[in-house]
Amino acid sequence: MTRILHRAIRTALPVAVGGRGVELFDADGNAYIDASGGAAVSCLGHGHPDVLASMHAQIDRLAYAHTGFFTSEAAEELADRLIAEAPAGLSHAYLVCGGSEAIEAALKMARQYFVEKGEPQRRHIIARRQSYHGNTLGALAAGGNEWRRAQFKPLLIETHHIDPCYAYRLQDGSESDEAYAARAAQQLEDKILELGAGEVIAFVAETVVGATSGAVPPVADYFKRIRAICDRYGVLLILDEVMCGMGRTGTLHACEQEGVAPDIMTLAKGLGGGYQPIGAVLLSRNIFEAFANGSGFFQHGHTYMGHPMAAAAALAVQEVVRRDNLLGNVVAMGDLLEHRLLDRFGNHHHVGDIRGRGLFRGIELVADRATKQPFGPDLKLNARIKKETMARGLMVYPMGGTIDGRLGDHVLLAPPFIVEREDIDRIVDRLGAAIDAAIDGIP
Ligand code: PLP
Repeated sequence: MTRILHRAIRTALPVAVGGRGVELFDADGNAYIDASGGAAVSCLGHGHPDVLASMHAQIDRLAYAHTGFFTSEAAEELADRLIAEAPAGLSHAYLVCGGSEAIEAALKMARQYFVEKGEPQRRHIIARRQSYHGNTLGALAAGGNEWRRAQFKPLLIETHHIDPCYAYRLQDGSESDEAYAARAAQQLEDKILELGAGEVIAFVAETVVGATSGAVPPVADYFKRIRAICDRYGVLLILDEVMCGMGRTGTLHACEQEGVAPDIMTLAKGLGGGYQPIGAVLLSRNIFEAFANGSGFFQHGHTYMGHPMAAAAALAVQEVVRRDNLLGNVVAMGDLLEHRLLDRFGNHHHVGDIRGRGLFRGIELVADRATKQPFGPDLKLNARIKKETMARGLMVYPMGGTIDGRLGDHVLLAPPFIVEREDIDRIVDRLGAAIDAAIDGIP
């Protein structure tokens, strides 16, 4: 009997023993195309020799030095690089070990910023329904997915949720994008006024929504309106680009495509490409200066933050992304993937929506295309799809979100940035067969 507590206790997992390029291999000799990059992590695929060489070089020099005593060359160099390429106004980086840690730090940073500024009455966080910001208690409180939150609710800090910007489900048939953007963003202003202007700390949102809804991009102008509302009431805008950032959507940061810059941005996943656990919080000069001119101390910290090995791996991953112009490949292969998905599923009776940007694509499954009625959650379609795709040597990220009665099952695709034309064909072929088999298998 295994002594590890896995997520699903009754399911035996295959043992991964190797990886090369876009494929992972298990102990039984099966190969899997990693069409989800794990959970949108493995942007360079597996076993990249340049990343491994940098990691070897770093461990020969220095594996670890506690940030209470030292910084390291690798961490400083990574922070410089992140800031050099950051959206306007972001001036400093805080390095942590993953996405949830990044969100926790961002929330505390936002709160302490107002304490430093002499506005301790600001205490509310606003976020969106059907969002995911991580599984630690603060991040879970910000997240709006009821299934993940339900049993932990008594432990969560109070947060306030508005609707996501989710055209397929929430835009009225006759409504223009402009009108919908205005209506969706207005919810934020209404919520701020309800809570009390001057009492809200921050609004937190994924620029392109990932895990809970499957690569849902905002409609044009939504985030410009959100930015303007935040500015009007002095509320910080925290964009969570843990999943959609670092090139996944075709630009280094997804918010570049929205024409907005946040006050705080969280990064992880593609930052280190899975070679090491790493996350980052980028913050604006205003926030930095409030700390620098105030207490001089951010009341936070983790033992492994700013880890030299993680920073070296992330630097190497980012270097390869730039050197090999992989963002160009994300755009080209992302367009191809979109076309292939439209060819294969555009007329599929049970595919309601095909969406996303770059190599971040989602398809939403429905029982009935005309009414958008989702499959019942008890049918566990997403679990069936996972089983069928794995049996065909394909990793995708299927999730179900019917808990609040509004969403159906979806499949998220996030293949490595090195993916090639033939890989895209194989991914879509296998996915098509797996989805059909999963739906046929429903009793
Ligand atoms: N934020 C977003 C948008 C995510 O998608 C995730 C993970 O999927 C997280 C935060 C949490 O990151 P981690 O799993 O590294 O803690």
